[in-house]
Amino acid sequence: MEFDHSLLTKAVHAGTEPEPITGAIMTPIFQTSTYVQKSPGEHKGFEYSRADNPTRKALEEALAILEGGRWGLSFSSGLAAEQAVIQILNPGSRVLVCDDVYGGTGRLFRTLFARYGFDFRFVDMRDFSRVESCLSSDTAMIWVESPSNPMMKVIDIRKMSEYAKSVGAILVVDNTFCSPIFQNPLELGADIVIHSATKYLGGHSDLIGGAVMLTDPELYEKLKYVQFAGGAVPGPFECFMLLRSIKTLAVRMRQHEENAMKLAQLLRDHPRVSRVFYPGLPEHPDYHLAQKQMRGFSGMMSFELKDGWDGVLKFLKRLNIFALAESLGGVESLVNHPERMTHASVPVEMRKTLGITPGLLRLSVGIEYIEDLAADLQSALDYL
Ligand SMILES: *Cc1c(COP(=O)(O)O)cnc(C)c1O
Repeated sequence: MEFDHSLLTKAVHAGTEPEPITGAIMTPIFQTSTYVQKSPGEHKGFEYSRADNPTRKALEEALAILEGGRWGLSFSSGLAAEQAVIQILNPGSRVLVCDDVYGGTGRLFRTLFARYGFDFRFVDMRDFSRVESCLSSDTAMIWVESPSNPMMKVIDIRKMSEYAKSVGAILVVDNTFCSPIFQNPLELGADIVIHSATKYLGGHSDLIGGAVMLTDPELYEKLKYVQFAGGAVPGPFECFMLLRSIKTLAVRMRQHEENAMKLAQLLRDHPRVSRVFYPGLPEHPDYHLAQKQMRGFSGMMSFELKDGWDGVLKFLKRLNIFALAESLGGVESLVNHPERMTHASVPVEMRKTLGITPGLLRLSVGIEYIEDLAADLQSALDYL
């Protein structure tokens, strides 16, 4: 897959213009709640910071540019962005959700929104016949996460877009794992892209944020209204942090991927590892689809230790650089135990079906020197 070098320039300049009064090259943090009006209704486009704020506006422009959308909307967290997207639907709507979604997404749907009568159907979207059997004229939305978390399944976004169009449903893609650098779902037929900006967009494990990108004017109006009326907006400081982070997004993603590819090979070849889930390995079942719809394989992978839970405990004790923590997408390498950490809220039966076993670990590969990362994994594996 060819890296799109124009993204290096795009990421640095997206959304940022020199500030007109002083020429400041960086968008200032407009830490204000309100804006003075000359006479009632006479203002410069800003009235109240829940509705709009200049720092947020710059961020939202950058977000739109990165995903090739017409508009970007930012939220106080990834889940706040997801809530806003569900809130454009009528209560009781049916939503088809890929079965292997981020734990918090499943929890939001199963516990919070199910109480409002929404009908969420979780389905393995790699199995088209299952999707077809769940699809009906009252399907209002199809919710895809690709690659999925933590099993790294790749879902055919173009195909899901055909299904969505055939029943008049809205196609949403959670693009957190790829970031806009490696995948642009709007180009593949998605109506709405969402991101947990906490992850790769933020990239430094120091903020919580969410983003929505889209091109359809009607959907934009609805979402903008939920953002304004619901109020789950990020503060100007978080917006500034994200604007700053986005400048290095393309450089970071390239390094995340380069490191991840080497570690996936190391894990695959180690006798204490039973399975590796990384779409960049040719033996991954979705390798060809991944090559078609993604421009890079990103820095996320999972693998299973032969020694199960006992092996996990020993392995984790030996790691020096990889830190045991939830979250992902930061410059530092993290390891996570999905069964007991990020995916503990997934019903037990579903966890079993998905393959989230006691021996499964997920890596968020950082941008450290690859030889250091490889040595860290190697010594912990050799200890088993
Ligand atoms: C973290 C994450 C979310 C939720 O985002 P928050 O910023 O934690 O609210 C949603 N989807 C994916 C894929 C994630 O990794």
